[in-house]
Amino acid sequence: ATPTAVMVGTGVGAANGILIKGGEALERACRVRTVVFDKTGTLTAGKPHVVDVKVLHSELSVADVVQLAAAVEQHSEHPIAAAILALLQQQQLKQQQPVGKLAEDSSHRGTAPPLPTSNVEVTVGEGISGWIQLPSAAGAAGSGSSAQSLNWASLRDVLAASSAAAAAAAAQAPAAGDAGLEGLVSSAAATAALPAAQGAAAAEAQQAGARLAEVLITVGNKRLMAESGITLPQAAQAYMREKESCGSTCVLVTVQQVLIGVIAVMDPIKPEARGVVAALHQMGMKCVLLTGDNWRTARAIADQLGVSTVFAEVLPAGKVDKVKELQAKSEHAVAMVGDGVNDSPALAQADLGIAVGSGTDVAIEAADFVLMRSDLEDLLMAMDLSRTTFNRIR
Ligand code: ADP
Ligand code: MG
Repeated sequence: ATPTAVMVGTGVGAANGILIKGGEALERACRVRTVVFDKTGTLTAGKPHVVDVKVLHSELSVADVVQLAAAVEQHSEHPIAAAILALLQQQQLKQQQPVGKLAEDSSHRGTAPPLPTSNVEVTVGEGISGWIQLPSAAGAAGSGSSAQSLNWASLRDVLAASSAAAAAAAAQAPAAGDAGLEGLVSSAAATAALPAAQGAAAAEAQQAGARLAEVLITVGNKRLMAESGITLPQAAQAYMREKESCGSTCVLVTVQQVLIGVIAVMDPIKPEARGVVAALHQMGMKCVLLTGDNWRTARAIADQLGVSTVFAEVLPAGKVDKVKELQAKSEHAVAMVGDGVNDSPALAQADLGIAVGSGTDVAIEAADFVLMRSDLEDLLMAMDLSRTTFNRIR
């Protein structure tokens, strides 16, 4: 192509909100046969909302689960955090729903901030945790407007019941050991450990007040829970299967290692996404979905889009490796389309990096093309421009 043709091509791109970083990038786009898509914010709107909350302890309410999750999520930048905080606000406004004439006076209405949380720890691609203060039983009513709606007494009951259950399980351990040398050894060891365990339980109960003054809240996916040894009850697993197979993402909420609820969030697929995937297929391209989200949700979304190749549960750092893998397998160029900070290394690694939206500066920096309008159809226009400029139609 002549320099003039390239200028025209990039000019037409610019006029349509497609930033093309040079003629070489435009030329590389002609050689792309594989398009890898990030899910969140790229194929989906990137604005998830809570669709359902499953409470796993009858003593607690949906509001309690949301309140506890929001306490830690207020410190997260993840879109899931925004969804949970938005629900907390909605709940508070609903509680304050004025009656009759009082509706006129909205001066007292407003939402309280989530519970204060300390020592917050983010686990990239998995979730977040932090500590909240559990008021002593005496002052159970709690103070502060946001604390009022949390059922502290019930939370205390749930924690007490679960530590009692844990103590009972420890005491039962010897009986569970069956015959055989292994059984005898473990049984003997457990028996020897028993008095100590009981002593510990008693001390635990004694110190309950002090020990429960601070409780650990963890919010995240099942990998994060598995890492801290939390197993999911059947009820939770069945619930997750159901929600995930419809394309929702399930967020687990624990207090002191006790699973209290599951929050299902849904990030809607962009309206043009399915058509864009179909058009890319028509152009002879292979489409791939690459996400940190779980397999079942990722497959559900891919099915809805007509994408057949999926890589799920990929940690941010692993996205680059997946792109490399695809490059090694393909004789042609591989494009990566993404929006977030997480995607920047993968955008840089791909033969053609395409940043979607006014996204993050880092992603824009790493990309060859930037689709300023976040409209995926602009991806098709960019591909067309490239083919027209370099006379590669067909
Ligand atoms: P994505 O590819 O969807 O952008 P991420 O790597 O950001 O994925 O996150 C992967 C998964 O980790 C999410 O689907 C979610 O289950 C979990 N996760 C990450 N951050 C949080 C958070 N702040 N709260 C709850 N879950 C989280
Ligand atoms: Mg993303």
